[in-house]
Amino acid sequence: MKKFKVGILGATGMVGQNYIRLLENHPWFEVVYLAASTNSAGLDYATAVKSRWHMNSPIPPKVKNIIVEDVIDVEKAKKKCDFVFSAFEISDKEMVREIEGRYAEAGMPVVSNASANRSTADVPMLIPEINPEHLEIISRQKKNRKWDKGFIVVKPNCSLQSYLTPIFALEQAGYPIQKIFITTLQAVSGAGYPGVPSLDMIDNVVPYIGGEEEKTEDEPLKILGDIKDGKFVQRKDIQISAHCTRVPVTDGHLACVNILFKNKKPTEEKIIEIWRKFKGLPQELKLPFAPVCPIIYKEEENRPQPKKDRDNDKGMAVTIGRLRKCKIFDYKFIALSHNTVRGAAGGGILNAELLVKKGYIKKD
Ligand code: NAP
Repeated sequence: MKKFKVGILGATGMVGQNYIRLLENHPWFEVVYLAASTNSAGLDYATAVKSRWHMNSPIPPKVKNIIVEDVIDVEKAKKKCDFVFSAFEISDKEMVREIEGRYAEAGMPVVSNASANRSTADVPMLIPEINPEHLEIISRQKKNRKWDKGFIVVKPNCSLQSYLTPIFALEQAGYPIQKIFITTLQAVSGAGYPGVPSLDMIDNVVPYIGGEEEKTEDEPLKILGDIKDGKFVQRKDIQISAHCTRVPVTDGHLACVNILFKNKKPTEEKIIEIWRKFKGLPQELKLPFAPVCPIIYKEEENRPQPKKDRDNDKGMAVTIGRLRKCKIFDYKFIALSHNTVRGAAGGGILNAELLVKKGYIKKD
């Protein structure tokens, strides 16, 4: 297959760097275009990220000399890109929606990591193992906006990747959930670079991440919901309550999760069997970034741990452990996912692979 020419918006940031690292040898996608803020625009990529390249591998030689463009410059991107990954950070959400919309209007599908479009009525928020059928809203989105080839698909917040796939697997197996109580212990890379000041983080836990608890509680209701008459219908029969904390870990968001089933309650053995057998469409389609087993259950009583388990299956698998009975709800467990891989760039790449395989992103 001739590779798709890909642009990365926000290429100099934490998520953008992960895109560049993960796409280095991608079988379908080739990075040809990089954009960031006006501070980086006009510099070659190596200079733009000098002293702030955070990946453990060197900058891929193919991107080192690419001149970074301004994210605003849609026309330049249009000449080079088949589609773009959006990973730029602007606090004005309306402006993010405006810029992503301009790319889509210019004919480039936008696979976004930003939160700005997550609650937009005709934009699917995708975890490919859970809600691939939500992609059907794309035709409605294009019609609403009079867009021809372009459209926007987003991925959810990185805080919920670890617990939502295991919850979905249980529901899909016939055990609906009524209540979820979560406490997240989130890595510092989730705040981008430079992120949380070191004096706040070393020897400390910060018990507040702006906007995170709302996202952790609300976004699953759209993802687990349906589409009726061309509109998203959120789940109303599931309640989620979250504490989100920042801990001094570089990568990997951990979540302590308590669940209450609606009616039937599976045994512990059954739950572990459901998790271990769970496969979704990305596994069926053998997408290049799909983890072989989306959920890995570890028997050791001291796992999962960010340092030891975040990179499981390319950083794309969720690792779970310590399933046990709960005295207030039914069960509790600990779940982990890599926030900048599964929760950001890797998740975005998997979304794009599904969009290609399903014919939403195509070549001229
Ligand atoms: P980051 O490290 O702070 O990087 C921000 C990027 O946005 C840089 O490339 C920066 O370019 C660019 N940028 C800043 N201001 C801009 C402007 N006014 N116009 C255009 N570009 C601008 O942030 P990050 O962690 O990579 O996050 C990027 C996006 O992904 C955010 O929307 C974030 O919410 C989302 N996200 C992050 C994670 C995570 O784990 N980190 C997970 C999921 C989603 P310069 O270098 O030129 O300033």
